Amino acid sequence: MTSETPTSGEDLFTCQDCGECCQGFGGTYVSQENIKDIALYLDLPLDHVQETYCRPSGKKLVIAQKADGYCVFWDKHCTIHPVKPRMCKAWPFINNILLAPGNWALMATACPGIKPDVPESVLLACVRRELARIDTHNAGVPQPPVTSQSPGKQSS
Ligand code: SF4
Ligand code: SF4
Repeated sequence: MTSETPTSGEDLFTCQDCGECCQGFGGTYVSQENIKDIALYLDLPLDHVQETYCRPSGKKLVIAQKADGYCVFWDKHCTIHPVKPRMCKAWPFINNILLAPGNWALMATACPGIKPDVPESVLLACVRRELARIDTHNAGVPQPPVTSQSPGKQSS
């Protein structure tokens, strides 16, 4: 892999389904659109989803946690994978990496799916592409096949 070679998300990250990123209080924010999608996906009333699976965090809503600290939608894998919130879909290709690329190596110490030693230019280009792909997909524009996923914060 060189900085001249376009790099896919899969080259830098392959989720191991360990669930590490789906536990602990991190605040997985959900929009009303997310809640609507989750309700449709689970075939449940929207109000039920919001009241049962969401919690307030400041002025926003986050996905609730179970008593064991895991996200309510974690059960050996993400049970709402196709409709999980943007931050879960994006992981580990998050905006923060564009501001502080050094965080990639730190994240790799907690997420076994992340390849730690990546040239910065390759990393930044890949993060930009992955974020653009996710946002285009969320906007309903037809997309090429997905190349990477994370369970928890990714796309298992
Ligand atoms: S994204 Fe990383 S931490 Fe989360 S489940 Fe996959 S391998 Fe584990
Ligand atoms: S990936 Fe799924 S299980 Fe993990 S935090 Fe996001 S919604 Fe919850």
